[in-house]
Amino acid sequence: MNDSKTKKTANKKSKKNLPLKRVASNCLFALKTVWEGSPLYLIVYFASSIGYGLLGFLGDAYLLRKIVNAVQAGEDLTGAVRFLIVVAVVSIAFYVAMNYYWNVLSVRPTNRITANVEKMLFKKAREVELACYEDPEFYDKNVMAMEQARTRIWKVLNTADNLFNKLINLSANFILLIVIDPVLLLFAFFPFLLGIFRRIENRLSHDIEKAKKPVDRRGNYVRRTFYRGEFAKEMRMGSIWRVMLTDLEETYGEYKKIYRTYGFKKAVAAFLQRFGIDGVTIMGATLYSVWSAICVGYQNGGMAIGDCIVVIGSISSISYSLSNVIQNVAEFGEHAVFLEDVRTFLDYEPRVKGGVLTVPEDGGTLEVRDLSFGYKNSDRDALKNVSFTLKKGEKIALVGANGSGKTTLVKLLLRFYDPGEGGIYLDGVPASRYDLTSWRDSFGAVFQDYKLFAMTVKDNVLLRPEREGDRELVESALKKSGAWEKVESFEKGIDTNLTREFDDKGEVLSGGEAQKIALARIFAREAPFVQLDEPSSALDPIAEYKMFENMMNATEGKSVIFISHRLSSAVLADKVILLDGGEIAETGAHAELMKANGKYAQMFGRQAENYLGKGESVNG
Ligand code: ADP
Repeated sequence: MNDSKTKKTANKKSKKNLPLKRVASNCLFALKTVWEGSPLYLIVYFASSIGYGLLGFLGDAYLLRKIVNAVQAGEDLTGAVRFLIVVAVVSIAFYVAMNYYWNVLSVRPTNRITANVEKMLFKKAREVELACYEDPEFYDKNVMAMEQARTRIWKVLNTADNLFNKLINLSANFILLIVIDPVLLLFAFFPFLLGIFRRIENRLSHDIEKAKKPVDRRGNYVRRTFYRGEFAKEMRMGSIWRVMLTDLEETYGEYKKIYRTYGFKKAVAAFLQRFGIDGVTIMGATLYSVWSAICVGYQNGGMAIGDCIVVIGSISSISYSLSNVIQNVAEFGEHAVFLEDVRTFLDYEPRVKGGVLTVPEDGGTLEVRDLSFGYKNSDRDALKNVSFTLKKGEKIALVGANGSGKTTLVKLLLRFYDPGEGGIYLDGVPASRYDLTSWRDSFGAVFQDYKLFAMTVKDNVLLRPEREGDRELVESALKKSGAWEKVESFEKGIDTNLTREFDDKGEVLSGGEAQKIALARIFAREAPFVQLDEPSSALDPIAEYKMFENMMNATEGKSVIFISHRLSSAVLADKVILLDGGEIAETGAHAELMKANGKYAQMFGRQAENYLGKGESVNG
């Protein structure tokens, strides 16, 4: 675990103290999100807190004063009892109505609001370039945003509701105190001064959460890895699990350090708040009222005994409400800090931008001109001054040793990253002027680390919602990729779920079978460009041969760029590009390169030797 890095991140973040304006703006953002999902929901929410606040006051301090005053004045209690009955009836009716709304009617708007938030986040998650997923800080923010957005928005609402409710109660009690003796307001307002400690405490809570995040990530990785099927084999070989357990133990140490850094300060802040409220406000107001009523006396302008009793009740209610208000205000601060991450994520301006042009249905000439690119977290260029042309219908094989930049090049062609210098052009027009979706839709692609979703075969092949005629399309694509035989044997055919994550009858495929399903994606897509990154790595030689043969037939007229570690497939290409250390080392048709007897010819010879055995001849 990188100790200093964790600390650095935590320190950087602990400095974050949002200005009040931003706190308000972030909380309003949450309320606006709710309003956009369902205005009625927001109205009922606040109406309910006003209602509860008022009824609470009327049935409590106000009623008590009415009774005490009536007793003191020697009046009968009929008026007070009548008042009590009215408050009770209204309270019950209000309670029933609100309960009906919250338990029955609110389900639909709640779902709509949550769905809106999720859609917003999913849309952004899809927009950001891949580089963001490789940036741990952005990733933490992203995960935090995803986790927090759904819950924080409700929490803001909850806090606002609580605040409203308590403010109503407070205002009513303040009026009561002003009427009795305005000096009491001094005690009532004191807890406001303590708000600073609450703010500090909440900021420390947030700092703890932030500092824990990278540690959580590491620990969760270990926990996940222990249970995930995909690691089960490696886990049983050697003793990597020991290394992981050590890692996990280190995370416990990290947690201890984090709590040691922040825990004590948090405890002091909490103590000062409690002491201030209980000691100064409640005790102070009580002593003052008793002194006024007994030592000064009603006749000399002091408090009436009845009012003294009301004050003692009222000041507790005020102190409770005020402490809640302070808590709520501080909570807004806390929500705002989390929502800041959500908003930063939502406001993130993707670096890879699209234009307005649509890629023609039949594609065009794709040109890579002077393309250089370095990953954000690396100080060396993965690609250097790469230039080549992929003509309509041409097939290019991209070859080279591991790490020579092949995958980087195909990812850039799909505009997953923002290439610094140079660029990609379609018929002479820069790629950035084409609409991003249209650009990516014009490629059928299979990635080296392709993923199958825990969905049906059909969904996995189409990678989009089904349209009419798609079942035949999927079947024919599976036939071309060589997966049909297998899929046909499934009871539910193309409707079979892949993986058993959600379906006991789901199918688990072998590496080669899964790769064929992924490969079918390119055949199911009417795209003028095809990109394959090691499409045959998991296939046996016969399946591989068939796959390439099918691919060449099925992609007739399409422009294809494929990476293959088996150079025998490069023979099928019109042009071979050999990358070395991110640069184009050689380019030309297979026969030309063999004739030139350079690096490519050497590599080809070495691979063929492995297949044929040493001593047999290799003819390009
Ligand atoms: P190839 O596909 O030819 O094996 P890659 O394009 O995957 O090569 O990698 C080219 C270089 O870029 C390698 O040095 C590799 O370590 C580096 N690289 C690849 N992906 C990343 C990444 N996401 N972040 C940083 N460096 C990367």
